[in-house]
Amino acid sequence: MTDNQQTPHPEDAEVTDGFELPGTPDRLDRLWTPHRMAYVKRGQGQVKDEASCPFCAGPSRSDEDSLIVARGEHCYVLMNLYPYNPGHLLVCPYRHVPDYTDLTIEETAEFGRLSQIGMVVLRRVSRAQGYNLGMNQGKVGGAGIAAHLHQHIVPRFGGDGNFMPIIAQTKALTQTLAEMRELIAEDWPEATQEFDHHQSQSGHQTDAADRSQ
Ligand SMILES: [Zn+2]
Repeated sequence: MTDNQQTPHPEDAEVTDGFELPGTPDRLDRLWTPHRMAYVKRGQGQVKDEASCPFCAGPSRSDEDSLIVARGEHCYVLMNLYPYNPGHLLVCPYRHVPDYTDLTIEETAEFGRLSQIGMVVLRRVSRAQGYNLGMNQGKVGGAGIAAHLHQHIVPRFGGDGNFMPIIAQTKALTQTLAEMRELIAEDWPEATQEFDHHQSQSGHQTDAADRSQ
């Protein structure tokens, strides 16, 4: 997601996640090297197949337990356990596939749609002013869990690089994540309506522009 991810990191050779909850000495490093984030503490070295994959296991548990905010037909959306910013979402296909090119047309369409609605919901819930979207693919691409494709949606706020370290120290991550999950999950249906309305308006404008030519 950032330029520094294209530069080989000395520790990329062994991307094991030593991160605990915020409040550990890792939190500052995590802000500036998000490619080192991993979804589970045990790290991707132990994600060998679907049975050990947290993105495969997530949907079988409750939304609360798995920090899921929305479930689609082919893909779902969850909170990142190690957020770069508050509200950091992940969009995953249900299928255990590593690469963007592995997605079917239907999966790709919903993957994109859920990413778009994720942006809308973050704008509504947390007044996000900007976003970083992206997929780190493959271990050398910086993926925390390379075996299961996931797209990051990171909301950005003016000056967030300055105050996030302070926020991270003032509130327990688990509480923040549970609260954010609830807010986002509750708003998701309305955000979807807003998105669909916006799409229909955009479509009309496009049609009108086509007709005027
Ligand atoms: Zn998986």
